[in-house]
Amino acid sequence: MIAKVIVDISNSEVDKIFDYLIPSNFELSVGDRVLVPFGSRSIEGFCIKITDYSDGNFKLKPIIKKLDEKPLIKKEMLELADFMREKFYLRFVDVLRLFIPSKLRGNKVKALQREYCTLAGDTESLKSLISPRAKSQLAIIDRLKYGGEYLTVLNTEFSPSVINSLVQKGIIIKSKQEVLRKPASENDNKCADKVLLTDTQKKAIEQINSFDKRVVLLHGVTGSGKTEVYMSLIENVLQQGKTAIALVPEISLTPQIMRVFRARFGDDIAMLHSGLSDGERYDEWRRIFEGDAKIVVGARSAIFAPLENLGIIIIDEEHDSSYISESNPRFRTLEVAEFRAKYNNCKVILGSATPSVESYNNARLNRIGLAEMNKRISINGMPEIQIIDMAKELHTGNFSVFSNELKEKLLETISNGNQAMIFINRRGYASYMQCKSCGYIAKCSDCDIALTYHKEDNMLKCHYCGKKFKPLDICPNCHSESIKQGKIGTEKVVRELQTLLGDNVKILRMDNDTTTTKTAYLDILGAFRRGEAQVLVGTQMIVKGHDFPNVTLVGVLDADMSLYFSDYRSCERTYQLITQVSGRAGRKDKCGQVIIQTYSPKHYLFNFVKNYDYKGFFEKELNTRQVTNFPPFTTIIRVLVTNEVEEKSLNCTKKIYDNLKELKLEYDREFVYLQAMKSPINKIQNKYRYQIVLRIKRSFESEIVGKIYKIVDNNKQGNSVFVEINPQNMS
Ligand code: ADP
Ligand code: ZN
Ligand code: ZN
Repeated sequence: MIAKVIVDISNSEVDKIFDYLIPSNFELSVGDRVLVPFGSRSIEGFCIKITDYSDGNFKLKPIIKKLDEKPLIKKEMLELADFMREKFYLRFVDVLRLFIPSKLRGNKVKALQREYCTLAGDTESLKSLISPRAKSQLAIIDRLKYGGEYLTVLNTEFSPSVINSLVQKGIIIKSKQEVLRKPASENDNKCADKVLLTDTQKKAIEQINSFDKRVVLLHGVTGSGKTEVYMSLIENVLQQGKTAIALVPEISLTPQIMRVFRARFGDDIAMLHSGLSDGERYDEWRRIFEGDAKIVVGARSAIFAPLENLGIIIIDEEHDSSYISESNPRFRTLEVAEFRAKYNNCKVILGSATPSVESYNNARLNRIGLAEMNKRISINGMPEIQIIDMAKELHTGNFSVFSNELKEKLLETISNGNQAMIFINRRGYASYMQCKSCGYIAKCSDCDIALTYHKEDNMLKCHYCGKKFKPLDICPNCHSESIKQGKIGTEKVVRELQTLLGDNVKILRMDNDTTTTKTAYLDILGAFRRGEAQVLVGTQMIVKGHDFPNVTLVGVLDADMSLYFSDYRSCERTYQLITQVSGRAGRKDKCGQVIIQTYSPKHYLFNFVKNYDYKGFFEKELNTRQVTNFPPFTTIIRVLVTNEVEEKSLNCTKKIYDNLKELKLEYDREFVYLQAMKSPINKIQNKYRYQIVLRIKRSFESEIVGKIYKIVDNNKQGNSVFVEINPQNMS
């Protein structure tokens, strides 16, 4: 027989399947990981098909060996791989890599083994072999009466020499046993008080179950108790012997959901996200693969968890852009979820307080189901939102970053023993450094981007490539020493807050800079939850999903920051961001209030935010999109060309553009826009960026995108070219 094998080589441009002979002395199944000869080397690969013919007419080499007992890629995943290759134009090997932890391939991590001690026989008869005076030996036997223990643990309780003598007598048997590496999670060992579902929650669950639609959107305001709904749905699925996947948009949200889920479902939960160590990921993955974990929680890559018999897939905060992987390899989580749900005949639940325009529109058009929860669990209802005009503050002589109102409320919150969260979507100390005399701005040498000043390490940092530079003290251009700093970021906010609130108030900061270590976000969120700090200052990271019962005040600084980005989603994004962060206030027994500071208080968006009028916002936004021909009415495609040599990327862009112009002639009525240009950030990591942006009628998406890929493939000429569909980020 012949095996069709995908070889696991990284830098090959080809998506090729190779034929190998299956030696008669072993059995091979589809999905098996194998070692095959490849040129002069031997390489790992995956068997994706077994046939009795070969297309080539040269002599086939035999497979060297099979690497695991069972196929690592199950049938469902092989079909998913085919789907993803077609849908997202991916190479087979890249898809398979998404499915299997990187370090499992090539056997780079192994199961962790520890010495384990068990009794050699029945307790009483073993005891009779020992002198009654050997108290500690008897104690060890008693300790192992109900089951074995790791040697390292026994060593902390008994003297190693006594343990050893029992081993020598053959009373204790030492063996190797695997220890599972468990990812850290927020742990307060609390058992869940079983809550009674509210009528609203019950109704939502009934609605979800009654739809015959594959996908259901659960639109529930912040604090409406969506997590509890997810848990009920999962419980139901587990009772039928099925399994569940629950996705959250960000690693920083996994500890919280794990804490709640563990309290409810015990230890049968596995976690998959990029914050795990290789060993942890390997162990969690195998627990899922072997069927020991029934629930998988994680960020988007957890959608590939090798669970069998899926009963439900939950995508929490479905509007979040992290569910779309735009490169390497690109995929949209929802489409993968829909495939798996169809395969397993189960539902996908999209949860959000601020659904994406796309999803809500799908619900409106009855393409997906819709269940709504308009009320908070807390009797205090939604927190009151106040919009503060910062221009007015300036007029009245307040030059601080905090409005008088916010200052007052902060002091009040703290003196009442409550907690506050301050959101600012900019990390570092100051957004740029600029010469006051000539206007020179310090930029990254590799990127076309102003550098951010970080006071803590007294450095200028590039937020695109991470490169660090000395701060500007003398202008290299005109030698002036008068340097101005740009807009403030999290670091400076913390400093100013400390001055305002005094040294006794503890302030935590959460952003990319404070969460570089593996457990940092756990430590920060845990400390805040335990009340060890009164204020949490942070970027996007603190916005989503968090449930801190003592937070009564939320402050939003620079709320309009993302409003004027040249991106069709900027309004939607800003609405989501502000509504989500506001939703952190007053979630349990205490009333919450929200203060939003802005220089454009008249913008219509704030009225919708203030009145919690999602539908109003949605209708206005949808209308704008329709009038201006933007998604969901059209599809935006960006072809991004990058090269270290500017001319090369420019020439390649021109070639592709010429071809696209011809394509436009062919599809004249379907094209609504076609333009080539420099990318807004013209250089990142020393690569020059040019782009072609086009918009086409939605119904022709798959047909035209296929042709665009062909054009790109024929005109790449050594450039890196990316085709992005409705890109999340146009920079
Ligand atoms: P959401 O995800 O919708 O923003 P959560 O699921 O975090 O809201 O729930 C908000 C708060 O309400 C949580 O503290 C949760 O424990 C609590 N809660 C949820 N459902 C109930 C219920 N049926 N009875 C009492 N408390 C509940
Ligand atoms: Zn200067
Ligand atoms: Zn840079």
